[in-house]
Amino acid sequence: MNHTLSHQQIERARKVIPGGVNSPARAFGAVGGEPVVIDRGQGAYLYDLDGNQYIDYIGSWGPQILGHRHPQVMQAISDALAKGTSFGAPCAAETEMAEFLCEAVPSLEKVRMVNSGTEATMSAIRVARGFTGRDRIIKFSGCYHGHVDSLLVQAGSGALTLGTPSSPGIPKGCTQDTLSLEYNDCQQLEETFEKFGSEIACIILEPVVGNMGTVIPDKEFLQTCRDLCTKHGTVLIFDEVMTGFRVAFGCAQSLFGITPDMTALGKIIGGGMPVGAYGGRADIMAKVSPDGPVYQAGTLSGNPVAMAAGLSTLKLLRDVNPYPHLELMGEKLAAGLTAAAQAAGIPHQLARVGSMLTLFFNQQEVKNYSISSQNDTSRFAKYFHGMLNRGIYLPCSQYEAMFISNAHTEEDLDKTIQAAQEVLKEIA
Ligand SMILES: *Cc1c(COP(=O)(O)O)cnc(C)c1O
Repeated sequence: MNHTLSHQQIERARKVIPGGVNSPARAFGAVGGEPVVIDRGQGAYLYDLDGNQYIDYIGSWGPQILGHRHPQVMQAISDALAKGTSFGAPCAAETEMAEFLCEAVPSLEKVRMVNSGTEATMSAIRVARGFTGRDRIIKFSGCYHGHVDSLLVQAGSGALTLGTPSSPGIPKGCTQDTLSLEYNDCQQLEETFEKFGSEIACIILEPVVGNMGTVIPDKEFLQTCRDLCTKHGTVLIFDEVMTGFRVAFGCAQSLFGITPDMTALGKIIGGGMPVGAYGGRADIMAKVSPDGPVYQAGTLSGNPVAMAAGLSTLKLLRDVNPYPHLELMGEKLAAGLTAAAQAAGIPHQLARVGSMLTLFFNQQEVKNYSISSQNDTSRFAKYFHGMLNRGIYLPCSQYEAMFISNAHTEEDLDKTIQAAQEVLKEIA
């Protein structure tokens, strides 16, 4: 595969952008080599500057669940554009979006739009603290909630891969109230509440983790989070930025039948535009400015073009209901990758919820960060590059989930499985 133009572009970018990228997750830091520079996307495919085609299993890290350039989404964006790009005043589309989200997501009675997942989690935590009058928060190692100061403590994803569990530039004061626990460990959680229960403002977690690779919650674990929060007056926040409208139309909370007090959203709800949202119980959201004293704002929040992209995506998800199909496709890909790893004799685990999955190079079932940190990342790097060379674009880290879109065909999956068979045999 020829990457001459990508290489030149990245060299140029490195002179003016740190690392040549606007988010470290794209930098191929965990797998080595140089990122390819994307020219365009269409359906299930990405095309780089040199004209190479890839079957895309990132989908912009989640949002492109309908594939790139879905015609109805493109039309909705262009209709919105014709009226202007931003007003800094209320528009009808933002209310329609809020109504839609409150209808679809069990925990939402009121919701505020923001511009990224990071803003959504940061704001949800501020509101939870304002509502409870408490400072301490609980997060779980390996869960990633965006680059929020107080949450960059043994975070997953970028921070995990870069080996900087807490970043320089964050004052100690920002993280001193953050308790970082092991995912799926009910006993540790109960002990922590025994000790600090009346001081804990919120638990924030990914109800299915995507950011240490796909990690599935024990039903008992989510139930324990719910029960302890109810008992101690602590706000339970589900960070569904990745899982929202991905694992089910009603998000992970409907799939597992556990309703949090607050929910953070992003990714899919923006249909590829920069959008986030946070919301929850009406009594909690009553604390948000201007109704209440907790300050949170955004010049471009509820942007009409972004709302159009998100709403058209969400309406298609409701009307087309791709979830049964995505489940079948997920099952097929998971079975194919598992068989390929078995045939090559490579120790592996395959974790999947619907169209979100990870092939771990690990002997043990990956239930938490301690186990996930034992993944064979050097084998993953070889796997990644072998697949990329065969036109399969996977997430460039073992600590990420891959996503199937509704635009992927069985033929795309067959090609992917065939490539995995070849690559895994080579690197066994
Ligand atoms: C991607 C992600 C975020 C951060 O969203 P940004 O839009 O990148 O700020 C937060 N939480 C989870 C679970 C995510 O997957």
